[in-house]
Formats: sequence, C-alpha cells, structure tokens
Amino acid sequence: MWDELVGQQAAIEVLGAAATDAAMATPGPAMTHAWLMTGPPGSGRSTAARAFAAALMCPDGGCGQCADCRSVLAGSHLDVEVIRPEGVTYKTADARALVQRASMAPSRGKWHVLVLEDADRLTETANNVLLKAIEEPPPRAVWLLCTPSVEDVLPTIRSRCRHIMLKTPTPTDVADFLVEAESVDATTALFAAQASQGHVGRARALARDENARQRRREILSIPARLTDLRNCFSSAEAMVATAKEDARAITEPLDAREKEDLLSAWGEGAEGRGVKGGARGVKGAIKELEVRQKSRTTRTERDQLDRALLDLLGFYRDVLAHQFGATTDGSIAMINAEMRTEIVRVADASNTIETMWRIDAIERARLALDANVAPQLAMEALTIDLRRPDLRRSAS
Ligand SMILES: [Zn+2]
Repeated sequence: MWDELVGQQAAIEVLGAAATDAAMATPGPAMTHAWLMTGPPGSGRSTAARAFAAALMCPDGGCGQCADCRSVLAGSHLDVEVIRPEGVTYKTADARALVQRASMAPSRGKWHVLVLEDADRLTETANNVLLKAIEEPPPRAVWLLCTPSVEDVLPTIRSRCRHIMLKTPTPTDVADFLVEAESVDATTALFAAQASQGHVGRARALARDENARQRRREILSIPARLTDLRNCFSSAEAMVATAKEDARAITEPLDAREKEDLLSAWGEGAEGRGVKGGARGVKGAIKELEVRQKSRTTRTERDQLDRALLDLLGFYRDVLAHQFGATTDGSIAMINAEMRTEIVRVADASNTIETMWRIDAIERARLALDANVAPQLAMEALTIDLRRPDLRRSAS
C-alpha cells in the first residue's frame, strides 16, 4: 500500500508508527489528530494521505487487501473524506461544511479522516474556520492537510499540525518504481523518470501513454517555432486548445457521473416528473452542480497549462545547462535528452542572459495563470517574450 510512495521511506516510517499507535485502546504518542503533508507536486502528498487513512481504517494497520483498505484507496470509504477545492479556492462555506462534518462520529471505524488536498487554496477566512476545528478537535476527527510547502498555511494552523515532509524522488527511485510496479521497460522508465522531474504521476503517464509523450513533444517544439509573431500567436492558441481538450477528457466523465448520482438521489427519472419537491428542486440542484463543474473545468485547464509550462521550463533549464558547458562535460544530465538537437540549436543561437530572461517569462506566465489572467492572453504574452526576451527588458 505504501509502494506508490516513491523514495519516501522516512515519511512511511512515521506514518506507519502513527497508525500502530492509533490502533491502541488509548492512542499512543506517535498518533495525533492533525497532520500537514508537504512536498513538491507529484511527490505523493495525496497518495501518502490516502495510504495513511487506509492504515487508520484497516484492522491490520494497512494491509492493502481488506475491504477497508480497498474502499479507502478507491475513495468510497464512509469514514474517509477526500476534499479538493472545486474552484480556484476553498470558500468559507466549504470550510464550515467540512468542520461540521468533522464533528460527526465515524460510522464504521475508530476515526473520521478528512483529507484536504491543495490546502494552500484555503482563503484566509476559510483558514480561520478550520483553525478552530483543529484547535479543539472532535475526539475522532483526523485532519490531513496537503500543501506544497509549510508556508502555504497560516502559522497558527502549522503549529498545531505534525509535519510530514515528502521530498522530490530521484530519477533512479522513479525509474525503479516504473520498472517494478508498472512493468515498464528500463529505457522508457529512465526517459520518463528524467522527463517528469520527480513527478511520479507524470512519469507514469509518460511511460505508459503515447498521447502524453506526443503532447510533450509538441510543447517542447514550441521554442524552435517562435520565428515570427504569427507563430507566437498560433503557438499560444495551440497550447490553450490542447489544455482545454485534455481538461475535458478528465472532467467530462466526472461531470456525467455526478449528474447521474444527483438524478438518482432525486429519484428515478427525476428530470421533471412527479418527484417530491418538484421539478424546480431538481433543476436548482442541477444548476448548482453545473456551476461547480464549470469551475472545476476551468481549474483543470489551468493545471494542464501549468504542466506544459513546467515542460518548457525544463527545456530552457537544459538550454542554460548546455550554455554553461555542463551537459558536455557530463556534470549535469539533460532532462530532455531526447530533444538534444533542438536544445543545442536554441543554446547556440542565444546567450545565458537571454535564457534567464526566458525562464523569467515562463515563471511570469505561471503567476499570471495563478492570478486568473485569461489563459490565451497569458500564453500570448509568454510566446512573444520567448521570441524576443530583450524587448521587455529594453521597454522597462
Ligand atoms: Zn487492510
């Protein structure tokens, strides 16, 4: 069950000990009711949270096989709630509802586990609502907050949580995992491990999915294509269109399932026919659901674009390493070894200062997306900056 946590032995030991202590009649000191799981994207924060939740539910401390373990891992255990913000942030009302649910006794097991993914997206008021619940915890509630770093939650919350810090797994750790757990061949595993820069989920996708590899090649071919303004605009447009398409592939099945669940909750064939509460009630509920789904789609699109920007960052990181001579003397391995020809071409046609400016431009685009700038505008600004990074410099 802990196998999915690649290269995180220290964290696994702490969580395993906590689960053992949690199972005692009076829980031992290794267990506590609030945890903060931090680590870079893809290091396995939510995997760690789920595995820990399963260990708390399982009569054997996390066997990975029993009904409890399996239902936690499948996301269907009654006493384990995994919550992600549907929109860009957790709203105060979301936090209140959560805190209220936390006060309910577990229905099957000993604990009621609440996993908050992306807890860095809590607004300040939502943070404060949560703080109260963590300060005076209901006796059976266990909070697992997942964020990229400890600075992402209020210090008052941080000080009340036990901290589990996941690190970026090494390419060797990731490659070994792909070979052993996913039966990927050694060459593909190594490529995927390098290219994903320690993001395990991404590595798995790159190792197993030709479509993911193709997307990545398209993104990495952008730098060489930015020869004139027209290409800048068309590349920006293509990036946004791809992100939209990939986001739809993720959210559409979820949307359909949620709508089905909602309709069956209102009664068979509830769409407008003879149900208590009437058609208006169903329509209201559907409308509410659709608003939430739309906001999730928007967020997923932005996440997909950010993924593309990380690939581009990796590309220019290789360019910079090459310009410094570090890839020729072998001191630094290229992340994108399979794109070596393109990387060398871009490196030879520019200098280190320009590469630094381009890296800045990508970081700026990521911040713009985070600040809700329209994706199309943010990508156009980016491709224009990538083509002539000196222009912005001389303008400012
Ligand atoms: Zn089990």
